[in-house]
Amino acid sequence: MDFVPVNEPLLDGQEKQYLMECIDSGWISSEGPFVQRFETEFAARVGRRHGIAVSNGSMALDATIAALKIGSGDEVILPTFTIISCAAAVVRAGAKPVLVDADARTWNMTVEAIAAKITPQTKAILIVHIYGLPVDVYPILQLAEQHGLAVIEDAAEMHGQTYKGKPCGSFGDLSTFSFYPNKHITTGEGGMIVTDDDHLAERCRSLRNLCFQAKQRFVHEELGWNLRMTNLQAGLGLAQLERLDEFVARKRRMGQRYTELLSDIPKLELPLAAISEADNIYWVYGIVLRDSVPFNAAEAMQQLAKQKIGTRPFFWCMHEQPVFQRMGLFQGEAYPVAERLARRGFYLPSGMALTNEQIEHVALAVRSMLA
Ligand SMILES: *Cc1c(COP(=O)(O)O)cnc(C)c1O
Repeated sequence: MDFVPVNEPLLDGQEKQYLMECIDSGWISSEGPFVQRFETEFAARVGRRHGIAVSNGSMALDATIAALKIGSGDEVILPTFTIISCAAAVVRAGAKPVLVDADARTWNMTVEAIAAKITPQTKAILIVHIYGLPVDVYPILQLAEQHGLAVIEDAAEMHGQTYKGKPCGSFGDLSTFSFYPNKHITTGEGGMIVTDDDHLAERCRSLRNLCFQAKQRFVHEELGWNLRMTNLQAGLGLAQLERLDEFVARKRRMGQRYTELLSDIPKLELPLAAISEADNIYWVYGIVLRDSVPFNAAEAMQQLAKQKIGTRPFFWCMHEQPVFQRMGLFQGEAYPVAERLARRGFYLPSGMALTNEQIEHVALAVRSMLA
């Protein structure tokens, strides 16, 4: 079999037609009509009043932190087991990221760990859903309300997922999404902020567009960024959004198939099919090598690469990032569950275009590697 890539998107719906419309009409910048349509339809899909399309999911986080006016002297609680974008947004704002460990079963942050980290300086909680199962959100929202904290929800891996039947991306003050090509729907590069708060929506729109002002365009009261999404990207996004339900069902079938093929291997820890609040949507199919395996994830990935199978490591913990350690952050902190996930976990090919034959081929290679 040919190389099995870790991710390949499916672009065989209306994508080409919408892109042609952009080119034929000449609307290729962020001023084109698809951008607003994508914002409206995406926000409606997650039950939010406002959608603000941006250039990627990382900068969506920066904009939410800025919109909430979080800065020097403030603390934001977030998981150590996540992508750097989360902690980077806090650090760039001049605030202090405060970390919590992951739960060993769900790989997500827990309310107990968050509660233990609240101080008088805490300004916000950044909820990040990891790999396919939602965080147990309601107890965290309750805790935030008790302490008067803002809540940002990073739903970059959660398109189409729900928590207790309510869409991920509908919780907290602001939620963010990414449309990178390995997400459930893609715009090539892209992201979205959604919120029900008129004022925060207005702030995000302004921050996205260099804080130009309506009256005197080139006179600025605040520093923003150019985070605008193009009409071309939004056209792709609309075509992808039309197929979100189909894509989620597809990923669920893939995840279930991997589990069927791998569940009898005692050396592997597989993702949970469900928790009481949701069924897994398997953004990526992550596996963790149990302690009985004499090598770590890096070596397993090398072995699979020799079999022409693409994989990716799990996130590397924020408290172990050289860039943050050099800043003097997280000195002497330890988060054993996340540290183990980072060393023992990696994910198998999980892209939308993955075929059954590829899944079977990958599962067989994993099995023989552990035999
Ligand atoms: C992908 C991802 C991001 C970043 O999105 P980009 O569009 O790649 O910048 C942020 N948070 C999480 C949890 C992600 O998975």
